[in-house]
Amino acid sequence: MPKTISEKKSEIKTNGEIHPASHASKWNYAPSPESTDHIHLEKQYGLFINNQFVKPHSNKYFDTINPATEEKIADIAEADETDVDNAVKSAKNAYEKYWKKLSSKERGKYIYRIARMIQERSRELAVIESMDGGKPIRESRDIDVPLAANHFFYYAGWADKLEYAFPNRKPEPIGVAGQIIPWNFPLLMAAWKIAPALACGNTVVLKPAETTSLTALKLAEIIRDCDLPPGVVNIITGAGKTGAVLVQHPLVNKIAFTGSTEVGKIIQKAIAGTNKKLTLELGGKSANIIFDDAPINEAVEGIINGIFFNQGHVCCAGSRLFVQESVYDEVIRKLKHRMKSLIVGNPLDKNTDIGAINSKSQLEKIHYYLDIGVKEGATIYQSTSILPTKGYFCAPTLFLETSQSHRIVQEEIFGPVLTIQTFRTVEEVIEKANNTPYGLAAGVWTDKGSKIFNLTSKMRAGVVWANTYNKFDPTSPFGGYKESGFGREGGLHGLLPYVNLR
Ligand code: ADP
Repeated sequence: MPKTISEKKSEIKTNGEIHPASHASKWNYAPSPESTDHIHLEKQYGLFINNQFVKPHSNKYFDTINPATEEKIADIAEADETDVDNAVKSAKNAYEKYWKKLSSKERGKYIYRIARMIQERSRELAVIESMDGGKPIRESRDIDVPLAANHFFYYAGWADKLEYAFPNRKPEPIGVAGQIIPWNFPLLMAAWKIAPALACGNTVVLKPAETTSLTALKLAEIIRDCDLPPGVVNIITGAGKTGAVLVQHPLVNKIAFTGSTEVGKIIQKAIAGTNKKLTLELGGKSANIIFDDAPINEAVEGIINGIFFNQGHVCCAGSRLFVQESVYDEVIRKLKHRMKSLIVGNPLDKNTDIGAINSKSQLEKIHYYLDIGVKEGATIYQSTSILPTKGYFCAPTLFLETSQSHRIVQEEIFGPVLTIQTFRTVEEVIEKANNTPYGLAAGVWTDKGSKIFNLTSKMRAGVVWANTYNKFDPTSPFGGYKESGFGREGGLHGLLPYVNLR
């Protein structure tokens, strides 16, 4: 059994010193949990194929757990080869019979309808997202669900304007898209994948991550209630094995995957030599860079937002902090101070800043890296947030005095863990920030526009935020360089993976 973080905290000795974070001078907020009365959840969920929920061929189900309470929420069907085959054939049939023949304007109307129904059911979706995935209700309510609706609105608008997106070319749909998504933004990732695929005239088989299937299944209900032609969107649940079968299915024409670099490489190998199109959005180890002329208070808030909100479960999390040496003391002092007021706890409470880690295995992975960091000689600092006794929680953690060669600096941890290094010159920080196998995102904080432009042109990162972090918009493309993957999602660029251009 791994030790709990509070057990570990009392043992942490770094460079001979013990660093207990001093007790938080936190304001006391009365609990303000979001009500769950209006939520309707089945005890058991089947597979969504041809606009119907059907039993899995094997009759096998697995549990989906609330990571904040460790309680089971529902049984989720496990799709095997027969189920995947049924889902893909249903998508193929819907593509040939209805979807590719439908006028683009009519396609757009269906997608608008999905967007509006997500808005109508936004409270329910937000609560279920937080229950199933562990993220704070503030995030699911204010970020995940509105952005998911916005993605459908945005791509609905493109459906009948594709010839303007690709002037002098003739965009044609590809066919059946197999889409596999991770657990960090379950509904939002489903929207990122489904909306552009449908707008371009493709049909879909989507597989959510095994720990967070519920909002995708709620989206299935919405799709059914929107009267989409049967088979245009199919949602099948299961773990990696189900995903692998989907990837290999001969009638699938395109794979869109978001997840770990390790699985991304397996998928790339699996479809090598076929004519399947592929986009991969993989891991990250993004740099957040603070210059001495930056607005420090805002930058500190940006650091917190970049790595601690959403438990660091963001592929573009600003997990490596680079601070210019002259403002290092001030930044660290303010960062530690701000960390004292972060509330870790019940994801459904509106006061909560940091919710539950998505699963037991992910919490174990984070603990594994905390041990490595200490062994590597970095100085650890954790906030004294009182963690709930039940559920998978992790205190926000800083690693000071880290170096480029440390594994905690090089490898993706996917938790609320921030490594910190200093720099003196612009050249030095660009070199250090780019010195990673990943290239998903970066942040730069400075008063000087010229520094921002210099950095954005030299950083090997798909997105560079200036004086902000983790800001998303459906009109803006997102994607990586190097081992963070290829292809873009969002914006005009997000249409390209779903069309053949003639
Ligand atoms: P994470 O490390 O974030 O859990 P994974 O890459 O393991 O990310 O999982 C992301 C998604 O990929 C999940 O839906 C998972 O079930 C699926 N998956 C895992 N292994 C495979 C595989 N070999 N082929 C296809 N999909 C897979």
